[in-house]
Amino acid sequence: MKFPAFAYVAPTTVDEALAALADDDDARPLAGGQTLLPILALRMSTPTCLVDLNGIDALKQITLGEDAVTVGAMVTHAGNAASAIHREHVPLLSEAVPFVAHDAVRNRGTIGGSIAYADTAAEMPLVALALDATLIIAGAGGERRVAAEDFFLGHYTTAIGDGELLTAIEFPLSARRWAFEEVARRPGDFALVMAATGARIENGRLVDVRIALGCIADRPVRARAAEAFLEGQAIAPATLGEAARLATADLRSHGDIHASADYRRDVGARLVARALNRICGATT
Ligand code: FAD
Repeated sequence: MKFPAFAYVAPTTVDEALAALADDDDARPLAGGQTLLPILALRMSTPTCLVDLNGIDALKQITLGEDAVTVGAMVTHAGNAASAIHREHVPLLSEAVPFVAHDAVRNRGTIGGSIAYADTAAEMPLVALALDATLIIAGAGGERRVAAEDFFLGHYTTAIGDGELLTAIEFPLSARRWAFEEVARRPGDFALVMAATGARIENGRLVDVRIALGCIADRPVRARAAEAFLEGQAIAPATLGEAARLATADLRSHGDIHASADYRRDVGARLVARALNRICGATT
């Protein structure tokens, strides 16, 4: 199918983009277009105007600060994959981003587009939650900062309001070790289930434990019971196994054409176990 008719504007600043969005209630930001353009072609969405963010250089920066790495919304998946800053300071992002689609999609698709779209099977929302990212949102009233925990509201639903733009994602620096695990039908496909784990290891014990799962609920979720169980525990296979079991035991998962809810819970627990073993591997 062909695209519906729409106007097109190409701002070069965030203010110009916000003005264009304010001018037309049915205008939509265009980032990498890897999701939006197929949706238009399928007529699942019919915005009257596309506000192309690709000319806004201020949204394409990766900056290492004292407490955080700030990633502009228009940094592509390929840009994140190539970032030496990420490899050193946000290793979970570096590890997860090659799981996003294929080179052609990663060359155009952006972290901002992925997080704003909030597909439960997408990797970047899980990474944002696991790393306690702050989402920076600009609108007519100025800028606001939303914790990842409060940002993802459900399938394809986020805290971004009408006329607002996600401008950057701030990843606090963390001394944790991290591991990411995913199962998909084929390399590059959207995930069937995925897990991210992080922890510091002090005197053989796990501290600051973080366990998050994706594609298992309507948004990325923390496995808080498993985190609490593991906090301060000595590393032992049985302990890690019990944490993995707890990680999905109480989850209300969803089944769909690709995988049942039981499959997601079972495989999710196995991925958590594998990821925990990896972060503990160097000390066992
Ligand atoms: P766009 O498609 O341009 O926009 C997506 C939505 O977000 C639109 O509604 C748009 O208005 C809105 N938006 C974009 N930027 C902003 C912003 N800054 N502020 C507010 N709203 C904004 N993704 C994965 O995570 N894992 C995969 O395995 C995967 N596989 C794929 C395979 C194929 C074949 C394709 C085509 C895509 C795949 N994707 C996958 C999706 C890809 O990661 C996209 O890049 C991503 O979902 C959307 O990013 P985008 O920059 O292309 O955004």
